[in-house]
Amino acid sequence: MKKVIIRKTKEIENWRRNINSEINFIPTMGNLHNGHIKLISTAKNDNSNVNLVSIFINPLQFDNKLDLENYPKTIDNDIKISLSNGADAIFIPSNEDIYPPNNKNISFLKAPIELSSALCGVNRIGHFDGVCTVVYRLLNLIKPKNLYLGEKDWQQLLILKNLVRRKNLNVAIKSIATQRDFDGIPLSSRNVHLSKNERKLIRFFSNELLEAKKIFQQEKKINLNEIIKKLSSKKISIEYLEHLHPHTLQKIRLEDNISLLAGAIKCGETRLIDHVFLMKRRPIIAIDGPAGSGKSTVTKLIAKKLKLLYLDTGAMYRALSWLMVKESIDYKKEKKLKNILKDISIVFKSNTNSHQDVFINNYCVTEEIRSQEISSIVSKISSIKEVRKFLVEEQRKIGESGGLVAEGRDIGTTVFPNAELKIFLTASIDERAKRRKSDKQSKDSQDIDIDTLKELIKKRDFEDSNREISPLIKANDAIEIITDRYSINEVVDQIIDLYNDKIPKEVEIK
Ligand code: C5P
Repeated sequence: MKKVIIRKTKEIENWRRNINSEINFIPTMGNLHNGHIKLISTAKNDNSNVNLVSIFINPLQFDNKLDLENYPKTIDNDIKISLSNGADAIFIPSNEDIYPPNNKNISFLKAPIELSSALCGVNRIGHFDGVCTVVYRLLNLIKPKNLYLGEKDWQQLLILKNLVRRKNLNVAIKSIATQRDFDGIPLSSRNVHLSKNERKLIRFFSNELLEAKKIFQQEKKINLNEIIKKLSSKKISIEYLEHLHPHTLQKIRLEDNISLLAGAIKCGETRLIDHVFLMKRRPIIAIDGPAGSGKSTVTKLIAKKLKLLYLDTGAMYRALSWLMVKESIDYKKEKKLKNILKDISIVFKSNTNSHQDVFINNYCVTEEIRSQEISSIVSKISSIKEVRKFLVEEQRKIGESGGLVAEGRDIGTTVFPNAELKIFLTASIDERAKRRKSDKQSKDSQDIDIDTLKELIKKRDFEDSNREISPLIKANDAIEIITDRYSINEVVDQIIDLYNDKIPKEVEIK
């Protein structure tokens, strides 16, 4: 495809009509550095869409005239960098093009107050309104499928995600982690203004944040005052340093696993921001739902794609049920049961087909626990208080350091109530019975007609949803996905998009 430079908003529409492809859009203000290059190359490697880079210094987002005048302009070099790193088109509109003098067709937007009144919003009045206005205008012109943004400007990213939701725009936001220079400071177009001494100060600041992140990983706490003291001792002028919830930008709560430590400092005339994410454990995805909703298939694929551990809690209840049948254990005798549970070990091991085998007391039961016999008693056994207590503890042990996706009935409500992402996967009873029937691996469904299967599933649903302890219910903060009309891959992609929306990319970097 011929690479093009577009300078007029009018030409965008023509170009769009001719390319016959979806668009990845990478908005920039120029003076491109490795952070921008990473955005462009990520877009290029993500899919086969056409990549459009825009270069436009948006006057509306500058609260300081001098800052606007001094903003580095390196257009020729930017064009070269963009084209050699995967851009197919570059859009370089003029001010008049984006903001025609009569302001026809322009919506001047306000950023949501709850997000724009924190952090940078306190001192940069109108900045985020200007960002929203220009991005909304560009999105309406370009109509991209994907919008690529850096996490370096985390607050801006949150505000733009909110804009896309608020305006119901059909665009997916993809983000990349903050890219840092050799000395730890985040890459920024404004860094060219830094004097040697200013650079030294910002390096000290960024390295303090990175150090705080390391300490937090071990100690799970942070001492803001100590950091402020250290920065002040270097005569660094702090505009703010805050420890907040990464999405609401409200005060952090005890139960929050991932938090944001963000700061802004002033070095001479230059104002610099930086942040890190603090994390008590790696992220957890909880997937709950009734039998046959596609949980296992979807959860396994997500684990593989996101490189998370896969935890099938149903298999644990099944394994225990299998043992009780095999050893004719009278599970109604509570005291006896307690003693038996004490000596039980359930472990998962990857097998040669890169699937998981389930072992109970060193006996491999992967196949046997899927029998109709086990399916028909597992709900009864899983409603016993002692059984749940034992298995929930085991599951929490497995998930202690996070980094897993767990499926079951009570993951989001009981096992991991602080999971970063909770999904409630369901489907109509007809669809679920159909799936079970065609599931060749499921021993349950062999030789059973669809109506009997439906009755069995309904019975299990009823028992799971009506038991006294941790019944199957949707957690308040779970997102429900009804899978009837989606393919497996569509459901997996939906969940991965939700995960990427919640979890900063930086968190994924070890
Ligand atoms: O998911 P699967 O069909 O293998 O689960 C088998 C049974 O185990 C469920 O019907 C339910 O009774 C029980 N279970 C549970 N809590 C979980 C997972 C499964 O009670 N977290």
